[in-house]
Amino acid sequence: MNQQAAAPSEFGAIRENLKEIRYNISEALAKYRHSGDEVSIMAVTKTVAPEKINYAVSQGITLLGENRVQEYLSKKDSYDKSAQVHMIGHLQTNKVKYIIGEVSMIQSVDSLKLAGEINRLAVRDGIVMDVLLEVNIGDEESKSGISKDSIMTLAQQMQELSNVRIRGLMAIPPIGADEAVFAQMNELYCELRESKLSRVEADVLSMGMSGDYELAVKHGSTLVRIGTKLFGARKYMEV
Ligand SMILES: *Cc1c(COP(=O)(O)O)cnc(C)c1O
Repeated sequence: MNQQAAAPSEFGAIRENLKEIRYNISEALAKYRHSGDEVSIMAVTKTVAPEKINYAVSQGITLLGENRVQEYLSKKDSYDKSAQVHMIGHLQTNKVKYIIGEVSMIQSVDSLKLAGEINRLAVRDGIVMDVLLEVNIGDEESKSGISKDSIMTLAQQMQELSNVRIRGLMAIPPIGADEAVFAQMNELYCELRESKLSRVEADVLSMGMSGDYELAVKHGSTLVRIGTKLFGARKYMEV
């Protein structure tokens, strides 16, 4: 199944990177969070060879993040099945059918239309699909996600969707974002948690990437999505 051999040093680098990430997270937790708080480390797999991904899984990674449906479908059979997969990239409504029942969470729900299609297929298949609402916290035109002012409205509208469960929020803060942006995300997450809306069982704040995960942990993140810091620089950039 392996497409290309990774040099032993590449595996060594992944092992060292993971050690450093875990250390930094534990430091941030100890400094800023309640004892007992935990943060999951997701390995973001875009452009990364399956054997490197499987190596990360062998080192204790239990969560993989996929950006593109096409890339995921071409790689998924090679993955170690012990890790769960979440969709984290922008998802077109007409592509939900390829991943429903395959991924354990869709983190990138950014419209009622998309949520409705996820629900339709979940009902058909007799499953409940866990989702996160993606917040465009920096109000950036180039990014998907919904504005923070519309999040609670969308959560309300989604109450009628019987087979979708809102597990929390996901955000990609702007590069170099002010710390206040991370704090805002945490406030919004708390508001959602306390909303008592049906279909909401929020326990996930997916926030933090290679460049900002420590700051994200400081401000309540429960799940950081790491690509570059774990696997090294990507050969090409994808959003
Ligand atoms: C690529 C990507 C990441 C990981 O980015 P790095 O900076 O390489 O850690 C996290 N989340 C999403 C949604 C991404 O597209």
